[in-house]
Amino acid sequence: MQQNWRAFDSEHIWHPYASLSNPLDVYAVTSAQGARLTLEDGREVIDGMASWWCMIHGYNHPRLNTAIERQLKQMAHVMFGGLTHEPAVELVQHLVDLTPEPLQNVFFADSGSVSVEVAIKMALQYWQGRGKRQKRRLLTIRNGYHGDTFGAMSVCDPEGGMHHLFSGILPQQLFAPAPVTAPYEPWDSADIAVFTELIEKHADELAAVILEPVVQGAGGMRFYHPQYLRQVRELCNRFGLLLIVDEIATGFGRTGKLFACEHAAVAADILCVGKALTGGYLSLAATLVSDEVASGVCANEQVFMHGPTYMANPLACAVANASIELLLESPWQQRVNAIHSHFDANLKSLAGNEHVADVRSFGAIGVVEMKQPLDVAQVQRELIGQGVWLRPFGKLLYAMPPYIIQQEELQQLTDAICHVVENL
Ligand SMILES: *Cc1c(COP(=O)(O)O)cnc(C)c1O
Repeated sequence: MQQNWRAFDSEHIWHPYASLSNPLDVYAVTSAQGARLTLEDGREVIDGMASWWCMIHGYNHPRLNTAIERQLKQMAHVMFGGLTHEPAVELVQHLVDLTPEPLQNVFFADSGSVSVEVAIKMALQYWQGRGKRQKRRLLTIRNGYHGDTFGAMSVCDPEGGMHHLFSGILPQQLFAPAPVTAPYEPWDSADIAVFTELIEKHADELAAVILEPVVQGAGGMRFYHPQYLRQVRELCNRFGLLLIVDEIATGFGRTGKLFACEHAAVAADILCVGKALTGGYLSLAATLVSDEVASGVCANEQVFMHGPTYMANPLACAVANASIELLLESPWQQRVNAIHSHFDANLKSLAGNEHVADVRSFGAIGVVEMKQPLDVAQVQRELIGQGVWLRPFGKLLYAMPPYIIQQEELQQLTDAICHVVENL
């Protein structure tokens, strides 16, 4: 590789949500272990992001490494059209077992965004199969995030998302205000009034409701009351809409339940998982659907026209199986609760800071919302100086570390957050 590869990176490589003309600093990582990344210059930083929610068991985990190595000796990949393999079947058994009863059927995709596209496509095709072609719009809530492909973008928050760049191109969906009652506040039934009006008025043209359950991730890191979700489920039943629940960020324990819809004890008709599915090792996502949805999609001898090239990649399925087994054997709930208590105890003092609008935590997620947007490059430089990796966005400084993070590491993480906020 050429000597000046860092310069080559900044001149030629797009990083996420970045400009190629004015790139943000990037840091080179040479290896990673547990909750820590080793940077090119030898410094170690604690990864408070779990590589965007994924790396729940930490880096370089022997069980996950072995699962991949073993599968690699069998086959790295094989097409899924007309062929099948044990890692995929085993993973479907896990997913069907772990999720609520009606979700019995699985479609594999290679990223969360694609699993959302598949969910939307299935919802529309379901209504075609049921002879109601006019039901083809989606209802969602503001501040949502569902991915970066076109269908997914159309249901992301219309202000925070990319609607302004693609207006006139994105399908026009319906948006209710984001719920405001937090899970730890008394439920206020007024919270769902507008949503109820929208569903009453538009039921005939609506195919489905799509939302993130209880935790809204990249659209604002907001937490809302499970009663909201329960009522959404009831409204979907009453007005004949499918409920698509996007558990891509929340799935596999992050919120203190294996899946966040368990906080409300509701079952979705369609459920998306991704991110932590493989313990952060490989890109894999899945769309789970009920028998009722599957039979509507496949009515009138229809097939489902979608087939990612790397669908159900065996390496990804093998490591997902190992990750799920590891999770279920581990005291994950205790770990998530301990991280939660730590955030509660150690970030709360920031609530009185003049620059801070709100401090909140739910499950293993801690959020400090500022009054003004943060200077990402500068904040990251300071955090790295404190031995911590975070990626703030907009007004949000937040953390969702690997579940295996050690107590001293967690302390260093929250100390760094406090240091940065107090020195603004
Ligand atoms: C990250 C995310 C997605 C998109 O997943 P990708 O794998 O990045 O395509 C969709 N929905 C939610 C809730 C997410 O957090």
